[in-house]
Amino acid sequence: MDISVVVPVYNEEESLPLLYERLKAVMDTLKNSYELIFIDDGSTDKSWEVLSRLRDQDKHLKIIRFTRNFGQTAAMAAGFAQAEGKVVIAMDADLQNDPADIPLFLAKIKEGYDLVSGWRKNRQDDTIKRKIPSRIANWLIGKITGVKIHDYGCSLKAYRAWVVKNLSLYGEMHRFIPALAALIGAKITEIPVRHHPRQFGKTKYGLSRTFKVILDLITVKFLLSYSTKPLHFFGLPGMASTLIGVAICFYLTCLKFFYHVHLAGRPLLLLGILLIFIGIQFISLGLIAELIIRTYHETQKKPIYVIREMK
Ligand code: UDP
Ligand code: MG
Repeated sequence: MDISVVVPVYNEEESLPLLYERLKAVMDTLKNSYELIFIDDGSTDKSWEVLSRLRDQDKHLKIIRFTRNFGQTAAMAAGFAQAEGKVVIAMDADLQNDPADIPLFLAKIKEGYDLVSGWRKNRQDDTIKRKIPSRIANWLIGKITGVKIHDYGCSLKAYRAWVVKNLSLYGEMHRFIPALAALIGAKITEIPVRHHPRQFGKTKYGLSRTFKVILDLITVKFLLSYSTKPLHFFGLPGMASTLIGVAICFYLTCLKFFYHVHLAGRPLLLLGILLIFIGIQFISLGLIAELIIRTYHETQKKPIYVIREMK
């Protein structure tokens, strides 16, 4: 199998037939074997019926249905797990991404990149609610993770199979895939893509997403820099705090013994003791994190979704 196209679907019944037509048109012009994997993420509309009908006509389709709505990340993870292609293309089901861009992605992969990310240069979404928050988020993510691309939020991306097989996606981490891919050593680039306004249905996300993205960013930074060495993260401030605390207490002890100064009523004493306490707590926290992280790395194979059926 050459190419797998992975499409998460949540209540997109009107878009699906059109999307399928356009995808098929593009894929048939390429001389590659391919599969189209649709993951119905617990839709409450007719999406599954539409997909089943398409699947009956065309064996290129692989369709997966979740027992409930597990979220876009889980849907993508399920698609990635089932993908058999050497190259995996992910895209949205709502026709905002354009299947006609796929050949550009394949060309970049052929150039030797492991991950090609779409950049919605001319994005067709609400300016205040979507474009400005996303600008800020992209800038922030680039700064903090060090993986500078313009548009983390664009789902249209191409991956070499090994990349998706080695990503472990949790929560809403699909937005940080380029950073996570960099973590496993993928060579990354981006290309401008077309972007269309949503024709049918409505977006599944609101403004609150921006704040969640910022919280997730803390996790990603931690994963990126310290996930295998949490004691370095907690231990350094812990050590600094303990040392300063000890120095203060030592100074006060000298005052007491050599100059007979009364220590009651000296705020510095409180600070010294506090710093020692905080320091020891930080170091202990680091050690506990070290233990947890080991369990975490060994249990990563745990799936984050439940599949109801699969054809
Ligand atoms: N989606 C999903 N599960 C969810 C939310 C969204 O599978 O819980 C799918 C949705 O059907 C679409 C894609 O993820 O194919 C992106 O969603 P949407 O278009 O609402 O996001 P936006 O383009 O507005 O960022
Ligand atoms: Mg969309």
